[in-house]
Amino acid sequence: MTTAILGGGLSGLTLARLLHERGEEIIVLEAEPQIGGLCRSRKDRGFTFDTGGSHIIFSKDDEVLAFMRRMIAGNEQRNDRNTKIYYKGRYVKYPFENGLYDLPEEDRFFCINGFIRTLIAVEKGEVPPPKNFREWIAYTFGDGIAGCYMVPYNEKIWKYKTERMSHHWVDGRIPRPPVGDIIKSAIGIKTEGYTHQAVFSYPLDGGIEALVTAIAGPVQSWIRTGFRVTSLKRDAGGWLIGNGKATVRADRVICTVPVQHLLPCLDDVPEDVTAACRALVYNSLVCVNIGIRGPVPEISWMYIPDKTLGMTNRLSFPSNFSRHTAPEGCSAILAEITHQPGDEVSRMSDRELTGEVLAMLEKMKICTPGQVIVSSVERQPFAYVVYDLDYQKNIRVVQDFCRSQKIPLVGRFAQFEYLNMDACIRSVMDFVASYPRD
Ligand SMILES: Cc1cc2nc3c(=O)[nH]c(=O)nc-3n(C[C@H](O)[C@H](O)[C@H](O)COP(=O)(O)OP(=O)(O)OC[C@H]3O[C@@H](n4cnc5c(N)ncnc54)[C@H](O)[C@@H]3O)c2cc1C
Repeated sequence: MTTAILGGGLSGLTLARLLHERGEEIIVLEAEPQIGGLCRSRKDRGFTFDTGGSHIIFSKDDEVLAFMRRMIAGNEQRNDRNTKIYYKGRYVKYPFENGLYDLPEEDRFFCINGFIRTLIAVEKGEVPPPKNFREWIAYTFGDGIAGCYMVPYNEKIWKYKTERMSHHWVDGRIPRPPVGDIIKSAIGIKTEGYTHQAVFSYPLDGGIEALVTAIAGPVQSWIRTGFRVTSLKRDAGGWLIGNGKATVRADRVICTVPVQHLLPCLDDVPEDVTAACRALVYNSLVCVNIGIRGPVPEISWMYIPDKTLGMTNRLSFPSNFSRHTAPEGCSAILAEITHQPGDEVSRMSDRELTGEVLAMLEKMKICTPGQVIVSSVERQPFAYVVYDLDYQKNIRVVQDFCRSQKIPLVGRFAQFEYLNMDACIRSVMDFVASYPRD
């Protein structure tokens, strides 16, 4: 009995490894010449950049974190997070609500006043429960934090109006910060937020791809790259999986590729399912990699809510995660720009994108164009799931259909959920635990 795993990103490779470890026969079919999906890295004249955006290893899930750290054992650098928000020319400690002391006085007042007034109003029952993401932000943090940071940053990364987004994914998961922490943060007493990420790991050598390469180690011989699945047909209780040139036969199929790629492979998909899938919203990503001579600020990564500064929503400094990602005396910078498929950003040339990022870096006094040694641009069509207001309705239609076809969906764009690496691995572990043995 052979199980075909569609997609050789982190989810597909972890599935392959765990099923192989329990004695199953598997084959991984990956479209690209290289495995890893969003967790690939690129080496360029002594610099290493993650091509699906800057990645770090962290988790609240002890079992998953232990698994990831075991995979990079002997090649791990542990780092203390030093993350900032670039706000009106200042570096504000991240998360924003823990960095209020770094704000200009007027903004600090606006944020603390808004937080406390909202808290009182909520406790008196004067504020109705939120109906969308924007209302949830104001309900949880108050108008000040919402207006200064949360709304502008979220609209910059999601490329979507927050009032047109659902809040189901944050509701209950992100609690309102304790009022004591907000007051401490506003008067300059140190507090930490998102503490499960305060210390993170990164491979010393090889970028984040070192993690997926290690996971794939024992199953290398069962991975077929350059195989873009274009058809899935039932055959005598199993499946015939084609790429237009060759066909692979398998008894079972597990999908880790985007549902937008899966459905066109199947015959007779009902129109309502196709329409629901088409309506799912996602963002693409451009990464501009810059290798420079000289230092960068000792910051892990930085959020940039201000639209007028540039298109970049996040800047990372991989050479602060591992010294091996840049040659001696040099530093690595990775700028992430999210965008909608087919929009103006997707039509910009690599040169225009690099020029835009360099102009921003110069304005921020991070580096000058004269310091640049290498630069490159990477594009990822599927980067972020966007939870619009119709998301839950549409994804249910797609999932129900795939369940009826007995095609399990595992992974970020197969499940079509905002899953980080740890959540993908958790999904895989749970899936394998319930997957019938052959
Ligand atoms: C900017 C950014 C930063 C991130 N940072 C972090 C972080 O710091 N920490 C963290 O834990 N997570 C982070 N993540 C999330 C992480 O990248 C994902 O959770 C993880 O990589 C998803 O793996 P996957 O295998 O589910 O999907 P993917 O990586 O998308 O893999 C899917 C694979 O399927 C292949 N495929 C597609 N279509 C076909 C087809 N028709 N036939 C065959 N193969 C096909 C693709 O080529 C790809 O290899 C980040 C994501 C982004 C976008």
